[in-house]
Amino acid sequence: MTNQSLYAAREPIFPRRVSGMFRRLKWWIMGVTLAIYYLTPWIRWDRGPNLPDQAVLVDMMHRRFYFFWIEIWPHEFYFVAGLLIMAGLGLFLFTSALGRVWCGYACPQTVWTDLFILVERWIEGDRNARVRLHRANWSFRKWRLRLVKWAVWLLISIATGGAWVFYFTDAPTLLADLGSFSAHPIAYGTIAVLTLTTFVFGGFMREQVCIYMCPWPRIQSAMMDSDTITVAYRDWRGEPRGKKHDGTAGDCVDCMACVNVCPMGIDIRDGQQMECITCALCIDACDDVMGKIGKPRGLIDYLALSDEAAERQATRPNQSGVMFCARAP
Ligand code: SF4
Ligand code: SF4
Repeated sequence: MTNQSLYAAREPIFPRRVSGMFRRLKWWIMGVTLAIYYLTPWIRWDRGPNLPDQAVLVDMMHRRFYFFWIEIWPHEFYFVAGLLIMAGLGLFLFTSALGRVWCGYACPQTVWTDLFILVERWIEGDRNARVRLHRANWSFRKWRLRLVKWAVWLLISIATGGAWVFYFTDAPTLLADLGSFSAHPIAYGTIAVLTLTTFVFGGFMREQVCIYMCPWPRIQSAMMDSDTITVAYRDWRGEPRGKKHDGTAGDCVDCMACVNVCPMGIDIRDGQQMECITCALCIDACDDVMGKIGKPRGLIDYLALSDEAAERQATRPNQSGVMFCARAP
C-alpha cells in the first residue's frame, strides 16, 4: 500500500496584467473603497462646543457613535443592529441575483490583494518576469526587488492598521500621540495586529484566504439558483479548443490568457468552481483575444445556468457580448 500525502503545497499564482471593461470597473471600485476607508476619519463635522468634530467616530469612552449628523447612544443601538441586518439581507439579495459580486469587486481581501499585486507588478514586472524571478536563485537583484516590494507592502499595511484606530478617537490628536509614542498601548497593539494580518493576507496568503478561511463561498452556494449570474465559459462555442484552421476547431484557441490573468489560478473552462470569485478578469482577457482573431466577444461571459441551458439547446440566440452593451463588438 502506498502512503499518499493529504497535503499539497501551494502553487504560487502570478496573475498577468489585463485591461478591459471589468478591469477598469475594479480599479474604480478599488480607488473609491480605499479612499473611503483611509480618508473618512479625517472628515470634520461641526457639532458645536464640547462635542467631537469628527464626522464618523466610535467614541468608546463616552459611549457614543457619531455618523455625520446622526448620534447614537447605547440604548439606541438597535439602529445599528437594524443597519447590519439590512446590509446582510442586501448581501444575500446581491448574491442570489449576481453571484459572488461582493467577492469579486468589493471584499477587503479582494481589494487589498489587488493593490498588493499592483505593487508587485510595478516592482517585479508582469507575469513572465515574476515567474522568472520566482525561479531564479537568490541574488542581489532578487533581494533588492523583494525587499523593496515587502517595504511598500509594509507601508500599506501600517497605513491600513493605522486608519482603523482613527475611527475610535480624534484622528489628528491620535496621530500626534502615535508620533510622540504617547498613545494608549491598545492603539499600538491594534495597529500591529492589523498591519500583520494585512501584510500576510494580502501579500502571501491571497487566494488561500478565500478558498480555505472564508466561510462565504460555502454559504453563498445555498443562495444561488439556476438564474443567478456567474462567470461561465461557452464550451458549446469554444470546443474543441485548439489552433486548427480546418474548420473543425471551436472558437477557443487555447491561448491560456484567461488562466494567466486569474487571481485564483483556475481555468474557468473546467466549469463553475468554488474558487471562482467572479472578478470577470478572464472575460476581459478572452474578449481581447476574440477581438484580435476576429471572433465575437463573450466566449467567457456573465451567464446564468438557465441561459447556458437555453443556449445549449438553441432555444435562445447566443447572447455573446450583449449582456453588457459596452462590450458589444
Ligand atoms: S482566453 Fe479565450 S481563447 Fe484563450 S484559452 Fe481562454 S477561453 Fe480560450
Ligand atoms: S475564473 Fe475568471 S472570474 Fe473566476 S476568479 Fe478567475 S478570472 Fe475571476
